[in-house]
Amino acid sequence: MNTVTMRSGSVIPALGQGTWNMGEDPARRQAEIGALQLGMDLGLGLIDTAEMYGEGGAEEVVGAAIAGRREQAFIVSKVYPHNADRRGVKAACERSLQRLKTDRIDLYLLHWRGAVPLSETLDAFQALRKEGKILDFGVSNFDMGDMLEAEALPGGRGIALNQVLFNLVKRGIEWDLLPWSRKQGMPVMAYSPLESAGRERDRLLANPALVAVAQRHGCTPAQVALAWLLRQEGVVAIPKAADPAHVRDNRAAAEVALTAFDLEDLDRAFPPPAKRQPLAMR
Ligand code: NAP
Repeated sequence: MNTVTMRSGSVIPALGQGTWNMGEDPARRQAEIGALQLGMDLGLGLIDTAEMYGEGGAEEVVGAAIAGRREQAFIVSKVYPHNADRRGVKAACERSLQRLKTDRIDLYLLHWRGAVPLSETLDAFQALRKEGKILDFGVSNFDMGDMLEAEALPGGRGIALNQVLFNLVKRGIEWDLLPWSRKQGMPVMAYSPLESAGRERDRLLANPALVAVAQRHGCTPAQVALAWLLRQEGVVAIPKAADPAHVRDNRAAAEVALTAFDLEDLDRAFPPPAKRQPLAMR
């Protein structure tokens, strides 16, 4: 499994598991816990969650999945922007820790920018890190302008990474944010690497060029979409899978080695940005 070094120096796996839409339906809970545990068995110990997902339900699912094996997990969680003031961050983090049934969050992110001044959120993150409640902090859905603003603030250079929408269809960050992040030694964590659940994912996975590359490798289109992300320097992908077959598929994507020929075909079908684009969020 490839690894990526965060700006803090901590090393994390390049492939993890997402949890959006988990923890919403008690009838699916055991299957979701089982899927995350299967992923951990296969080496996908990095698990991304948020207080928002299932309004805490996803964190509870993660808490159950990591019970008794905390050391194998790397937990990423996120604070709502409306909880991102000094007191709010502390309280939200405590609630997340309780739901996760752990004493620390490995990486704590601001989910997206809201009305609270960034400097206040960064102060709160640094205080939590000092207390050992979080080990690293970062941001999500920050565009180039947000990053430059954050970098200039006290604590801004402590931002370990930025989690943004990035996949074969949504390549806008390749214009500026991705090269800039690389220059800073800051990884990008790619969310919705398969274009999320629903029609957009179905359209991506049915794309003839993607299907043709998958056939050449004897793998699935989803594995090619993930392998395309995983071959890029400083990129972490966090596909969400509740179906055990998908979990196995995703883990095996880390072993798919795309050729220059594959990459050319994919570039033709999913062109890189030709100009600056606003940061995609869905
Ligand atoms: P995604 O990972 O792109 O796609 C998830 C969907 O793809 C699910 O329906 C899943 O089905 C299916 N799937 C998974 N593996 C598959 C495979 N090998 N073959 C075919 N289908 C497969 O979408 P996402 O959940 O939007 O993004 C991933 C994670 O990123 C989230 O779960 C969340 O942790 C994070 N995220 C963060 C933000 C943010 O604002 N920071 C926003 C969105 C997402 P099953 O579940 O049935 O297996």
